[in-house]
Amino acid sequence: MTVSIALFTQDLRLHDNPVLHAAHTSAHQVVPLFVSDPAVESAGFATPNRQAFLSDCLADLDASLRAIGSRLTVRRGDAAEQTARLATETGASTVHVASGVTGFAHRREARLRKAFGDRLHVHDASVTVVPPGRITPVGRDHYAVFTPYHRAWQEAPRRTVLAAPGALRTPGGIRSDTLLVSGTASPGLPPGGESAGRARWRAWDVDAYADVHDDLAADDTSRLSPYLHFGCLSPTELVAHALRHDGEGARAFVRQLVWRDFHHQVLAARPDAARRDYRDHDDRRHHDEEEVEAWRQGRTGYPIVDAGMRQLAHEGWMHNRARLITASFLAKSLYQDWRIGAAHFLSLLVDGDVANNQLNWQWVAGTGTDTRPNRVLNPLRQADRYDPDGAYVRRWIPELAHLPGPAVHRPGLFAEGYPAPIIDPDTLTDRFRHGRP
Ligand code: FAD
Repeated sequence: MTVSIALFTQDLRLHDNPVLHAAHTSAHQVVPLFVSDPAVESAGFATPNRQAFLSDCLADLDASLRAIGSRLTVRRGDAAEQTARLATETGASTVHVASGVTGFAHRREARLRKAFGDRLHVHDASVTVVPPGRITPVGRDHYAVFTPYHRAWQEAPRRTVLAAPGALRTPGGIRSDTLLVSGTASPGLPPGGESAGRARWRAWDVDAYADVHDDLAADDTSRLSPYLHFGCLSPTELVAHALRHDGEGARAFVRQLVWRDFHHQVLAARPDAARRDYRDHDDRRHHDEEEVEAWRQGRTGYPIVDAGMRQLAHEGWMHNRARLITASFLAKSLYQDWRIGAAHFLSLLVDGDVANNQLNWQWVAGTGTDTRPNRVLNPLRQADRYDPDGAYVRRWIPELAHLPGPAVHRPGLFAEGYPAPIIDPDTLTDRFRHGRP
């Protein structure tokens, strides 16, 4: 009787899961395991929003596993130590795990390798569609520019989508810990888990995506990002489905998933880009706490910026266009260190992801992979273009809800309880252009 451990990480699903599939097809019994590592908590990554979502994910995974004769074991501690302990308890001879792109994932994999040697099987096409490093430009270990990456990605072979196992056999009598969830989550947080993710995916219509994805008030992007971050949904399955569906909307949606792969392959090759400027730059570190705090609170006096920041606080999620506007405002108009903004986003985003968050922040700040690093988004022009009627601002800023149409975007409006702009609208590009606060 052979036993294999399927160590879940960022792949909390039954459908199209290479780790679970391999464990299941190579051993008589499978032990599905999730390890809650206190190192994630001490690194500040286990935020109330992501812990609440993760708790839903684990409960849903356990229920789905029970429905096919298995169950989820949760352990607390170092992933390699806990996996080794469980292997001893259950007589498991092999361990399957997905490869990750963060420094944390690299270290975890190294410790698992030390404990299990060639009994560890690492699956590299689980978190992304095309594994990092699989396609590379001549003479480099990763793509630094999106367009050629997108081209190469379209030509790259993709693995086939794997069915969810119909039945699993798991040894009995295994102790399981519970996940510790502390702190207060945002009130508008979506429910976590594969079932909720698949329901959301089925309910969303991709056809209109190409036309509406930048329309802030329409709010009709997929909102699948948290499910992708925790691996409740497989990006490979989403891509295969979208390409079968075809059409302009499906192609535009796939392109966004390619951005996700792109940032993952950058981070896999340059894990230090989570903290340091990716591009050679002056590594500027301006920090005016008063201005940053106004930005965090959604009280800059720029309605479109404040609306985005308030959506973030309320939902633990923000529309992509609003992320671009709010990040550019902080990193370029206010000329503050991008890391301060990225840290605030990570503290609230339920989809908060080292690869996507840090590298999108660097892209906006001009320190990353943008081929036009010196452009500055003007929040007033962005507002006119992407919230032409002002409905997004009215939704999130009650103090301005009585103002009709696009008038709601003008800073310096006298509205009870709403602040004056913290920076003169005529100087929105000056600090960045002249390189000083
Ligand atoms: P859709 O528009 O429906 O797109 C589908 C999927 O494609 C998304 O779920 C996401 O997985 C992927 N995707 C879309 N845009 C991007 C992008 N620019 N980069 C990488 N992947 C993308 N995304 C995160 O998942 N986690 C983050 O922490 C994160 N931080 C960001 C910070 C900044 C400053 C910016 C500008 C963008 C950030 N993004 C992040 C990317 C993007 O804003 C979100 O993925 C998107 O808004 C999620 O909403 P959605 O699922 O409705 O996206």
